[in-house]
Amino acid sequence: MTYDYLVVGAGLAGATAAERLASELDAAVLVVDSRPHIAGNAYDPVNEAGVRVHLYGPHIFHTSSARVVEYLSAFTVWRPYEHRVLADVDGRHVPLPISARTIEALYGLRLNQAETAAFFAGRREPHQLITNSEQAITARVGRELFDALFAGYTRKHWGLEARELDASVCGRIPIRSNRDDRYFSDRFQLMPADGYEAMIGRMLDHPRIDVALSTSFTQAADRTRFHHLIYTGPIDAYYEYRHGRLPYRSLRFEFETLDRPQAQAVGVINYPGPQPYTRVTEFKHLTGQHHPKTTIAREYSLAEGDPYYPIPNPDARALYGKYAARAAREANVTFVGRLAEYRYYNMDQVVASALAAVERIAAERVA
Ligand code: FAD
Repeated sequence: MTYDYLVVGAGLAGATAAERLASELDAAVLVVDSRPHIAGNAYDPVNEAGVRVHLYGPHIFHTSSARVVEYLSAFTVWRPYEHRVLADVDGRHVPLPISARTIEALYGLRLNQAETAAFFAGRREPHQLITNSEQAITARVGRELFDALFAGYTRKHWGLEARELDASVCGRIPIRSNRDDRYFSDRFQLMPADGYEAMIGRMLDHPRIDVALSTSFTQAADRTRFHHLIYTGPIDAYYEYRHGRLPYRSLRFEFETLDRPQAQAVGVINYPGPQPYTRVTEFKHLTGQHHPKTTIAREYSLAEGDPYYPIPNPDARALYGKYAARAAREANVTFVGRLAEYRYYNMDQVVASALAAVERIAAERVA
């Protein structure tokens, strides 16, 4: 069969592109994914104990884009969820991101907003130029909070010292002088009521969309004819690594189901200390599920494995630039999503990027 579009990847990027192409342009679309399931890294199956888990790490939906929420609302009912994170500092659990509450939990000081701002100001380290993540934090809150909450976590997560990482990596983490202990401050903080797989399933449930799972791009390209390719896989793999492999940090999850309804006070606890894992997630906080048992996942950072986090440094960016230059010359291939654009994208940004990509395709068809 001949399709108008072959979409590689059934994650949020591929599903958004496929849905828009089918609904807006009345195109015939084939979506393939090499995995045996849809939803990409947002996949959230129910495990053998009956607890819904996020197989590729905790996924919390948050956005300030009314457009993205409006678009996805056609495919899901939402459940309000404000994510909260604690950091384990020598056995004490203190709120993250750093706020007046963190200072209270660490030092027993109950400060108002002005006093908290003065607390940070009194500890700041002056830097002429902020070029790395260590400077980005010490310039705002000083060395002691950096050592307690950032140094060890960054080392475990990235396998690098904070001073070896771009300033933007830790620099984008909020630091608050008020008592707001929500992890995100976006306008919309919601979770799809029956999960991401169900939401993405409804996006793909369209008479003009066929879905083939456990099917790679190469297998699909051998068997099918198509006019235009939407590619959401790794861009270096598409070009057969001809400029070299783009570097990624990988993860391993260790799941454990406990015979009690709750394991920890909040959805995620970070471990900046000597533990070999970086954080522990308890999924029921995120999903709102009621169940007599609970499942947690300990997260370990790895140098090798499936691609999770693009490495934020100038060499990696330069290498991506070579692939991006090739991609820009393609006439009938559109690269969209976290792997194809080699960017740490949140889910809302992926949806926005896919919506914009289809708008460009539609505009080119009219022109
Ligand atoms: P993916 O979801 O990775 O989908 C790409 C799909 O393409 C995959 O299913 C893959 O199997 C398939 N594929 C690749 N190559 C091929 C090929 N050659 N042939 C066939 N199929 C192929 N975002 C948030 O907004 N909130 C969060 O809390 C959050 N938490 C995260 C936690 C972790 C640990 C990580 C790593 C990311 C998190 N994200 C979060 C980001 C989120 O995962 C991404 O924004 C989103 O999954 C990207 O969707 P995508 O479709 O671009 O990629």
